[in-house]
Parts: sequence; C-alpha cells; structure tokens
Amino acid sequence: MARWLVTGGAGFLGSHLVDRLLARGDEVLAIDNLYTGSEENLRAAKQNPRFSFRVADVRDPLPAETGGAPIDGVLNLACPASPVHYQRDPHLTLTTSVLGALRIVELLEERPGLRVVQASTSEVYGDPDVHPQPESYWGKVNPIGPRACYDEGKRVAETFLVDAHRKRPFPLQILRLFNTYGPRMALDDGRVVSNYLVSALRGEPLTVFGEGTQTRSFTYVDDTVSAFVAALGLDHFDGPINVGNPEELTVRELVDVVAAALGAPLRVEHRPLPVDDPRQRRPDISRARARLGFSPTVLVAEGMQKTLADFRGRVTPNPVSTP
Ligand code: NAD
Ligand code: UDP
Repeated sequence: MARWLVTGGAGFLGSHLVDRLLARGDEVLAIDNLYTGSEENLRAAKQNPRFSFRVADVRDPLPAETGGAPIDGVLNLACPASPVHYQRDPHLTLTTSVLGALRIVELLEERPGLRVVQASTSEVYGDPDVHPQPESYWGKVNPIGPRACYDEGKRVAETFLVDAHRKRPFPLQILRLFNTYGPRMALDDGRVVSNYLVSALRGEPLTVFGEGTQTRSFTYVDDTVSAFVAALGLDHFDGPINVGNPEELTVRELVDVVAAALGAPLRVEHRPLPVDDPRQRRPDISRARARLGFSPTVLVAEGMQKTLADFRGRVTPNPVSTP
C-alpha cells in the first residue's frame, strides 16, 4: 500500500485527489492551513481509516511518516489559486510556494527516494506571446505586478525542485495545470466558473472583465486528478508537463456554456479588466499525451452540468431575482 502526503488537501483540487488516492487503496495524510480550503471537502475522506488530516502550514517542516510508516511521496498542492485570494496576502502566497518547495527539498535529504508531484501552473507562462503554450516556452511574466506573488512563486518552486533533482535525481514530476473547475469550488473562490455559477443561480448578472475576448482552457477536475495519478507512476523526470484542455473558450463563450447548462439566458455586466490578465491561454498537451497518456475526457458542456448540479445544492437563490 502506498502512502502519500497531500499538501493543500482540504482545497478544491486537493480533496478530489485525496478521494481518488483513497479509492485506489492508498493511505493518505493531508495537511492544510485552511486559508482557502475547508474540512467540509474532506467529509467523505474522514470516514476512511486510511486517511488522516492535520491543520498545518506547508512552510513548516513536513511530516515524513503517517501511521508510524514512512511516506512514499508528496503531492504538493498547497497554495491559494484564485487571483482574488492569492492577491489578498501576497506574502503568504509567495512564501507558500517558495518555502513549500524548500521543505520538500529538505525532506528529500532525509528520504532521497521520495516521489514528488508539484502542482505548478499555466501562470508560469504569464501573458504569453507563444500560442498555444508548449513546455519549452519560458513565458512572459511581470515580476512586480499583482499576479507576481503567484506566478513567480510557482516559477521559483519549479527551480528549487529541478535544482534538487539535478544534484541528486529523485522521482519528480511537475504538472503545469491550466484552469481546472468542478464540484467543491468554494462559493467565494472568485474564479470565473464559480463566480458565474453562483451569479446564475442567484439570478444576478455575470461579471465579464474587459470585453470578454480573453481566452482560457477549462479542464474538468476528474481529468486533472487522473493526470496526477498517472504522474505518480512515472520514475523519470523529463521536464514539466502541461495538463489542460486544448479546447479554448473566450470568457464570453463561457457565459454561453453556463447559460446552456442552466437552460436560461443570462445577463452580463462588464467590469474593468484586471491588471496583467493574460489575453490567451491554451496548452500544447503533446507531452502529457505521450508521458501520462493524458487527454481530457469530459467536454466543457458536460463538466459544467456536473458542476452546476453541485452548486445548486449549495447556493441559496436570491428571492428578489429569478434566473
Ligand atoms: P484551493 O485554493 O482550493 O486549494 C489550495 C489549498 O491550499 C487550500 O486548501 C488552502 O487552504 C491550502 N493552503 C494555502 N496556503 C497554504 C499553506 N501555507 N500551508 C498549507 N496549506 C495551504 O485551490 P485549487 O484550485 O484546489 O488549487 C490547488 C493547487 O493547484 C494550487 O497549488 C494551485 O496553484 C494549483 N493549480 C490549480 C489550478 C486550478 O485551476 N484549479 C490551476 C493551476 C494550478
Ligand atoms: N473573469 C471574469 N469575470 C469573473 C472572474 C474572472 O471575466 O467574475 C475573467 C478573468 O479576467 C480572466 C478569466 O475570467 O480573464 C479567468 O479568470 P480566473 O480568475 O478564473 O483565473 P485566471 O486564469 O485568470 O487565473
């Protein structure tokens, strides 16, 4: 039986990953400081005797054991991921990525064969000049803009881990995740899919930043989790791997996807485009296909239906407006 430490395990993505690892018979210790995560996400996991949870900060020394036995690896997901939350406390965001990676490197000194899967991000490409983005593209990140605490933190985390791997190889994988959505996203998460579902269910206008011509590529959470599980099976590090859906949508098109899922037209309200908001983003997933056997299986229309069903159970409709 494999034993994993999942950091950020009470978050949206972390909790789905915990559930998948438990379902395949593994033992999991999750840690989280509950900055954006919630123990509610771990309600099912907590029923499982192979699961344990600790409120802990990834910037502190990490546990090397669970249930008295050494862990086999770390899946590092701790870090606020929504621009609203990661910009709320930039110091926390930057130090979480940088010190979190440093703690893993320290753990590797004690346990040299540890498997490590790092949740990196398409944000390492910044506002890209190359489209779609292959892993070989070094990106265009503003180092002093409001997104830098996240983008640069994730870039340094990659640097820390790859330097450690160069010094003494270990089973490392770095997944550069593109926008992932699905059930359990926090209602106040602030990212576009959760904002739109909450507004749609409350009968409020959907906020379109700028003209809504900027693009993103949305991956359903189950597909992203499958990429993590596939990454755990790889021994050899051959560079970071993009994980995402090559189907690219403008924000305006996303409004239509949400309206179709809801089966009703939706009003929109324009707001200013945030500073440094990337204009376009679509992954080149050739490497993910070759190395992980990854390709998205859930169409955006289908994933949105499933996510809407989850949000319906959590959002209280606004009595004065109907969708
Ligand atoms: P999330 O905010 O739901 O989860 C992040 C979790 O990390 C939360 O539970 C939070 O409380 C925890 N956390 C934050 N700082 C911490 C710290 N210092 N110590 C311990 N725990 C801490 O976001 P998510 O979407 O589930 O993202 C998970 C990971 O995947 C993040 O590392 C994020 O950067 C990465 N990622 C996500 C996406 C996406 O679209 N969901 C895209 C790219 C990368
Ligand atoms: N966005 C929007 N309305 C919202 C939230 C976000 O138009 O209520 C836009 C945002 O400007 C960006 C895209 O949707 O262009 C995705 O934003 P999100 O915060 O989900 O993630 P990002 O990919 O920017 O990190």
